Amino acid sequence: MIIPDIIIAVDGCSSTGKSTFAKMVASAFGFLYLDSGAMYRGVTLFAMEGGMIAEDGAVDTLRLLDALDGLDLHFVNEDGATKLYLGERCIEKEIRTLEVSSHVSPVSAIGQVRAFVDSRLHAFSQGGRVIMDGRDIGTTVFPAAELKIFMTASDEVRAQRRFDELAAKGEKHTFEEVLANLRERDYIDSHREVSPLRQAEDAFVLDNTEMTMHEELVWVQGLIQGRFGILC
Ligand code: C5P
Repeated sequence: MIIPDIIIAVDGCSSTGKSTFAKMVASAFGFLYLDSGAMYRGVTLFAMEGGMIAEDGAVDTLRLLDALDGLDLHFVNEDGATKLYLGERCIEKEIRTLEVSSHVSPVSAIGQVRAFVDSRLHAFSQGGRVIMDGRDIGTTVFPAAELKIFMTASDEVRAQRRFDELAAKGEKHTFEEVLANLRERDYIDSHREVSPLRQAEDAFVLDNTEMTMHEELVWVQGLIQGRFGILC
C-alpha cells in the first residue's frame, strides 16, 4: 500500500457538514477529497437494488457478502470532484436519498462490508494529499493521519441542514423524519462492534453549530498552516 503524503481525517456524526467542510479544504489547499460514506451508501444502494434488504429493513447478509467480491464501486474524478460509480453508472444522486440513509447504518455495521470499503479507500488514496471524511477515518482507516478533525453540531441544526438539502432536491420529508433518521444513524454508528464512531484522542474538535463556512475555513487555515506550512 502506498500511503498518502498527507492525510487529513474528518470524522463526526451524521450531517455535521463534514463533506462540505472537507470539499472546501480540498479546493483551498489542493487535496484530493474522498467521501467514505459514499462507499457505504453505494454498497447499500447495490443491496437495495438487488433485493437484499427486506421491507422491515433486515439485510440478507449472506447474499450481500457473496456479491461483494464482484462489486465494482469506484470513484471517478470529474472536473475536480470525485463521483461514485457502480460499474458504468454514476450513482452520486441515488445514494443521497433518505431511503438509502435509512438502510445504510445496518449495512455499514457488517465487518466484511467495512473491510471491503477500507480496501477501496486505501486503493483510492495512494500518494499525494488526501482529505477523507467519515466515522472512523482517524481511528481505523488512517489511524496515523497527520491531522484529525472531529466535527460536531447540535441535533436540531444538523437536522435542519439535512432537511433543507433534501427539500432542495425535491425530496419531501418532515423535519421530524429527518431528525429521527440522523439520531438513529448516530446511535447505530456509535454502538456497533466494528469501528464504532468515536472521537480519536488526538483529534481537534470543530463544533460548527453557530459557525459560518468562512469561520470554519479560518479555523482550519491556522491548523494546516501551522502543521504543514501550506498556504491556501
Ligand atoms: O457520511 P454519510 O452520512 O454519507 O455516511 C452514511 C453512513 O455510512 C453513516 O451513517 C455510517 O453508517 C456509514 N459510514 C461509516 N463509516 C464511515 C463513513 C460512513 O460507517 N467511515
